[in-house]
Amino acid sequence: MNDRRPMLSLDEALARLQAGAAAQAIAESESVSTFDALGRVLAADVCSAIAVPPADNTSMDGYALRAADLAAPGAMLPVSQRIPAGHVGQPLLAGTAARIFTGGQVPPGADAVVLQEHCVPVAGEGLGAVRVDRVPAPGQWIRRRGEDVTQGAVVLVRGQRLTPQALGLAASVGAGTLSVRRRPRVALFSSGDELVMPGEPLRPGAIYNSNRFMLRGLLLAAGCEVSDLGIVPDRLDATRAALRQAALAHDLIVTSGGVSSGEEDHLKPAARAEGQVEDWQIAMKPGKPLAFGRIRRAHGDGKGAGPGDALFIGLPGNPVSSFVTCLLAVSTVLRALQGMAAGLPQAVPLRAAFDWPRPDRRREFLRVRLNDQGALELFPSQSSGVLTSAVWADGLVDNPPGQAIARGDTVRYLPLAALISR
Ligand code: AMP
Ligand code: MG
Repeated sequence: MNDRRPMLSLDEALARLQAGAAAQAIAESESVSTFDALGRVLAADVCSAIAVPPADNTSMDGYALRAADLAAPGAMLPVSQRIPAGHVGQPLLAGTAARIFTGGQVPPGADAVVLQEHCVPVAGEGLGAVRVDRVPAPGQWIRRRGEDVTQGAVVLVRGQRLTPQALGLAASVGAGTLSVRRRPRVALFSSGDELVMPGEPLRPGAIYNSNRFMLRGLLLAAGCEVSDLGIVPDRLDATRAALRQAALAHDLIVTSGGVSSGEEDHLKPAARAEGQVEDWQIAMKPGKPLAFGRIRRAHGDGKGAGPGDALFIGLPGNPVSSFVTCLLAVSTVLRALQGMAAGLPQAVPLRAAFDWPRPDRRREFLRVRLNDQGALELFPSQSSGVLTSAVWADGLVDNPPGQAIARGDTVRYLPLAALISR
């Protein structure tokens, strides 16, 4: 069906998604063990009660000493103590050296460490002595107290997703538990009478339901609790019932297929009957039709949708359109629901190793892959039905409307890894 309404820019659509979802951001947080917090979103800043490292310590095995005690290379100093990692020494006696090992606390009075490779131990009474063949600069090989984290510093901020390295940093300041947002609860279903599940025979006219697996994977990768409601037939009553059911216990309902304006497309009429929906034509390719709205939780009160409703996003059915719109639109909603910062990941300017002479007048997201010369190759088919392109690709070129690309031009590259795990 030819739709003549003006198209919405993607930026405008994302801004509306962001605002709609932020208005009903998930308020609940929970305390989880830092051990189990990977991928969760912080509900509160993590502030350090300690300095890291907590005390000056050596970054090398060697001898801690006072630089001023060494007149010249080759000076001999008695060894007055031994300080392995995890031990605290005594204040350093003047004119002596302390044998010290990586991570060991530098004793008060010492101001430098000389590498063991630059020293020769000399046997003798007690711990013996050491010949020091280099004169160190003061401070050499000493990691200062607070060099990583100062006491009282905010090391991780609310709204931040917990990466493995963030968990390491939280642990380094002694945080055994973290306050995180409740995971978004998302209901997912696919619409289409042609869909069958892998494992079943492919009857004439049917195709396998690929979106169910791809979208569920993206939602899980984004840290959601996903309820998979399966395949809903192309009927208004069934679609209404599925939306109504899904609204009850979920923050967000994501569907694929049935959002165009054909008579076999029931998502928008169903969502209108069960709540409210905005019917968007977004100036992007792939992924033009997108429905965004809310589904009433208390069905049948005739009062229209309100803040207690479930959000609803209807994605187009073509697999690549579903993939790209999930990466851009659904993740924008999920981030806003969890109080995360708005915006797409930073695009990287890279050289195109392809020509794209006939651009669309919509903003395009082309499936590309980085080659070993640091330039981008284009997958030969950019059809929205060719899911192979999304597996072959490691990124998308975000191409402005109407912009032709010639080999060698600089284009904007969005890595899929950054889009999937953001
Ligand atoms: P629709 O958005 O329902 O008009 O579907 C557009 C195209 O995507 C049609 O060719 C559908 O067969 C296909 N499609 C819809 N849903 C899925 C799905 N879950 N998996 C694979 N292809 C789908
Ligand atoms: Mg359909």
